[in-house]
Amino acid sequence: MVKISDIFTCKRCGYCCQGNTTVSLDQEDQENMIRTLRLSRDQVKTRYWRVTGSVVQMKTVDGHCIFYDEGCTVHEGRPWRCAQWPLHPSIVSDRNNFTTIAESCPGINREIGYEKFCEILLQLVKSGRIVC
Ligand code: SF4
Ligand code: SF4
Repeated sequence: MVKISDIFTCKRCGYCCQGNTTVSLDQEDQENMIRTLRLSRDQVKTRYWRVTGSVVQMKTVDGHCIFYDEGCTVHEGRPWRCAQWPLHPSIVSDRNNFTTIAESCPGINREIGYEKFCEILLQLVKSGRIVC
């Protein structure tokens, strides 16, 4: 049976948590984060979110997500897009996406080659072990 570690092992480099914007949080992400932090919505919003119209992102501090501190400090409550990264479905549809993602994530196993990578990724999606 294929395993996630066949194609990806996080090196905890933190690269994906850097930048001056973050992924956006959908309604379920927001509820999950509130539950995980055990704070009120208003407290979470004030301390951790950047709200622009209907778009909710996490604040950034010193060029990284506010929750980044040598790893994700809100791991259980992180948005689904963070949990999905770097096994993004667009990898399968376009080899260039694989190259781009692999260049920004050292956890990607490039040794096995693109075709084999996609084969395993699709098996993982099919078996429900990763969400795409
Ligand atoms: S860039 Fe990749 S290896 Fe680095 S922390 Fe993010 S997921 Fe892990
Ligand atoms: S929530 Fe966690 S995984 Fe997502 S960007 Fe912030 S620190 Fe990184």
